[in-house]
Amino acid sequence: MDSFIKSVKKLIKSCDCDYECNAIRFKQNFKNWTSGNNGINKFIQNTQLSDHNEYMVRNALEWIPYERLYDIKYIAADDEFGKVYRANWTDGHLNKWNDEKQNWERGGQNMFINLKILNNVASITSRYIDKIAVSHKVYGITQDPETKNYMVVLNDICEKCNNVCNSIHFQQNFKNWTSDNNDIDKFIQDTQLSDAHDDVKKALEWIPMIDFMMLNILQKMMSLAKCTEQIGLMDA
Ligand SMILES: [Zn+2]
Ligand SMILES: [Zn+2]
Repeated sequence: MDSFIKSVKKLIKSCDCDYECNAIRFKQNFKNWTSGNNGINKFIQNTQLSDHNEYMVRNALEWIPYERLYDIKYIAADDEFGKVYRANWTDGHLNKWNDEKQNWERGGQNMFINLKILNNVASITSRYIDKIAVSHKVYGITQDPETKNYMVVLNDICEKCNNVCNSIHFQQNFKNWTSDNNDIDKFIQDTQLSDAHDDVKKALEWIPMIDFMMLNILQKMMSLAKCTEQIGLMDA
């Protein structure tokens, strides 16, 4: 293994790590994916080759197969970056290397992400990504197989946490529920936005009434069943 690491290291410029670093692991995987575009391949590879952490993945981007995204919906046209779509990402983002499993651990399975179309493939430069990364967490690049558009896969970050925290996840889910009462919606949303950044237990959530109704009906049925049983016993 040691000699293998050394020979790979020779291929990675500026890797002086005295441990197996993420750059080495990413490099071993280059042959298993392609974006179909050399410039984009090179760009993603360079972000991976500059990740010399031992375990945690920091700024490495990855090639994200489009079929790992679902519920893709157009949400808005951003002044700066153009059309923005929202989707869910089955796998979630790279988190850290797991030595035992010899694989990456991921976080945020089925998480919401945003997609920004790259109008010009040549525009994918470190400066472009750095600019987006001021207010977003960038995960990688994907391609719509129908339109052939390349898209940057990213997420909003919370101004307070400088990260994709619980509040961001709650906010992305606002449109999926309502109590049918604006004040109650607002109250619940406020707990999700203001208190839950690092502790999800501090947030309230809307539990649809149907759950309470079902519970109620179930309890009535159970007590009715008990009654019948008791009457049955008395008759006997
Ligand atoms: Zn290294
Ligand atoms: Zn936050």
